[in-house]
Amino acid sequence: MLYAILFVLGAAWGSFLNVVACRLQAGQQFLEGRSVCARCRRKLHWHDLVPVVSFLALWGKCRFCKKRISAQYLLSELGTGALFVLGAGMVFSPLSSLLYLAVVSFFVVLFVYDLRTYVIPDKIVIPGIIVIGALNALAAGPAVPLLLGALLGGLWFLAQFLVSRGRWVGGGDIRLGVLMGALLGYPMVFLGLGIAYVGGSIIALVLIAARLTTFKSRLPFATLLLPAAFAAWLWGEAIWAWYRTIIGV
Ligand SMILES: [Zn+2]
Repeated sequence: MLYAILFVLGAAWGSFLNVVACRLQAGQQFLEGRSVCARCRRKLHWHDLVPVVSFLALWGKCRFCKKRISAQYLLSELGTGALFVLGAGMVFSPLSSLLYLAVVSFFVVLFVYDLRTYVIPDKIVIPGIIVIGALNALAAGPAVPLLLGALLGGLWFLAQFLVSRGRWVGGGDIRLGVLMGALLGYPMVFLGLGIAYVGGSIIALVLIAARLTTFKSRLPFATLLLPAAFAAWLWGEAIWAWYRTIIGV
């Protein structure tokens, strides 16, 4: 029952986060104005805005213009619902629940934004660094490994930025590295990066094998870094222990 309630709350929150991401991209205020269809701009009824249910009830099509609604709506609702359920076993205090909520919120908005635009916007990532960093220091502390993690996470991408003169990574990646470090701290930030690169290579090879992409096309990098950072945050110790048994250290 608790899980069902959490899932519904998460799906509703995910629906809101998706709207935030879309409206930030469009440069609109995200707290004012009714929701409209992205294609025909007609105002939507409240019963067309029920997370997950409305999408399924409308068969993924707008009531008015019958154009397809992006599956991104359904996926961000289902995904955030699942993350809320996952959080039930991960948070132990009011402060850690607040931190979990902040991490899920910023990560979902950044993920959706990057997937759509290949851009990691400052107006999301910088507040994310401040809010997540501060909550993390209060909830998990101590602050020094977190500051060191943020510094090293940023430097990791800054070095690539300088070596490649901005061709491999952009400024957004540097700030995303800082965010990862502020969440994971030192030394876990390197595990997060490791998971992202290994995971990214596997996904790229699978896509190439399935002829869905070529070596030249690029993947939205934040969509790899964010899940990797999240996994390292929740299961870093376990993943590290498992890795050590594999390599036999
Ligand atoms: Zn429409």
